[in-house]
Amino acid sequence: MKLQFDNRFPAGLPGDPEQTNQLRLVEGAVWSAVQPTPVADPRVLAVSTEMLQTLGLSEADAATSEFAQIFGGNALLEGMLPHASNYGGHQFGHWAGQLGDGRAITLGEVVAPDGRQWELQLKGAGPTPYSRRADGRAVLRSSIREFLCSEAMHHLGIPTTRALSLVATGDGVVRDMFYDGHPEAEPGAIVCRVAPSFLRFGHFELPASRGDVELLRTLVDFAIRRDYPHLEGSGEALYAAWFREICERTARLVAEWMRVGFVHGVMNTDNMSALGLTIDYGPYGSIDNYDPDFTPNTTDAQGRRYRFGWQPRVAGWNLQQLAAALSPLFSDIAPLQAGLDAYAEAFSRTDRCNIARKLGLSECDDDAVALMRDLQAWMHRAEVDMTIFFRTLGDHDAAALTPDVFADAFYDEAKRDAHRDELVAWLARYAGHVAKDAWDAATRRETMRLANPKYILRNWLTQEVIDRAHAGDASGISELLDVMRRPYDHQPGREHFAGKRPDWARNKAGCSMLSCSS
Ligand code: AMP
Ligand code: MG
Ligand code: MG
Repeated sequence: MKLQFDNRFPAGLPGDPEQTNQLRLVEGAVWSAVQPTPVADPRVLAVSTEMLQTLGLSEADAATSEFAQIFGGNALLEGMLPHASNYGGHQFGHWAGQLGDGRAITLGEVVAPDGRQWELQLKGAGPTPYSRRADGRAVLRSSIREFLCSEAMHHLGIPTTRALSLVATGDGVVRDMFYDGHPEAEPGAIVCRVAPSFLRFGHFELPASRGDVELLRTLVDFAIRRDYPHLEGSGEALYAAWFREICERTARLVAEWMRVGFVHGVMNTDNMSALGLTIDYGPYGSIDNYDPDFTPNTTDAQGRRYRFGWQPRVAGWNLQQLAAALSPLFSDIAPLQAGLDAYAEAFSRTDRCNIARKLGLSECDDDAVALMRDLQAWMHRAEVDMTIFFRTLGDHDAAALTPDVFADAFYDEAKRDAHRDELVAWLARYAGHVAKDAWDAATRRETMRLANPKYILRNWLTQEVIDRAHAGDASGISELLDVMRRPYDHQPGREHFAGKRPDWARNKAGCSMLSCSS
């Protein structure tokens, strides 16, 4: 197996002089050289065909024991420079100080055959100087979740870090006592994540919090040079353009999450990508019944800061923290404020565009927004599956819609019946809009098909795959990934994967509810 490396991140930035995995505060440096800790028996459970291809690797490469050894953390390829990076962050609204890659080790930056560069990062490969009180490992169930969702989000067209491989380690890991009630060790695993950059807001916040403006400036200059090479100009104007683009990318990201019902679950600033990618698939979830108050994060059960409907404002708050961190580089904060304003504008623009697409309307005027808001309020009241509802809405001509075609979308018969008249009224209003719209029926339906996925990575689908994997059959992982490859297409014979949440999955710990660090 051959890969070519060009490790711009560690090579271009100050590193920690100490070269051990020992826990420590790292000041004046952005990374620490560390070695993955070997595992007992690495076995490849699943790979992403698309990511293999992108990197110039074949399925045959992925079947070698060399591949399992490398992506299980037992061996290195020539040119790799394993390291953990140093960042801080605001967790649940409070400054948490140094965090860093506690269980992520970047192996190196690959130059792909098309010239693009990708960082390869093992998640769960053992302790680093940033592991704090934890073990640097990840359990199989959370690794399956990260592997599948990274690729599912990519296929949905949503910016995300990617996943190359999922490797079982053969070692046990002890985790959440509440998980299915058994405190014994669970199987461990390692995901190889892939992204052009794993820089987070927290990378900039940490040197700023320490008053290390020189390091902050070095890191910002690096990030712009490497990750935003298209930006022109210099000095504060360049910094302003860069911050503005981060704001606009974040706006698009969150608007896209809202479109498909994705709840990140831990939008701490250390989990916010400086590239506007979805990063850190921990206790994420999908909305089944439309509920703006839903959060999959059990650690957040009290505050519910990271609920679905709050994501746009939490992202705005996180950008404010990034702006504050960058402020020492500016003589005047007006450009930072302008970036934050651009966030609000870009979110609103993208959200309106998504509303129009989801409803199949050629223009998103205020009436269409009102139509959507009323629909969402009704879906919430009547406990309606968001994904099934929108997909069904686009599967019929508007004039032919009746409450009965939505029979599969309800979770509660009493609520369905109690709110039926409201649906009748809404459908009539909707049909009136569609009748006035410039688009013909075919354009409307095709637009809706591409805005409203039929298949999303529902928690219970992943849980089925996890249960099978725990029983020794890992084939469900690739089967589910294969469905998620074409989320907008009707796939005959795969109705199971488009179904609503079964009763068994409603409030099961480890299924619809999860904690952060498993
Ligand atoms: P998260 O909530 O996943 O964003 O994690 C917050 C911080 O805790 C990051 O610095 C992680 O690297 C670290 N962390 C989470 N889980 C572990 C673990 N099992 N071992 C070491 N560090 C961890
Ligand atoms: Mg994290
Ligand atoms: Mg995490």
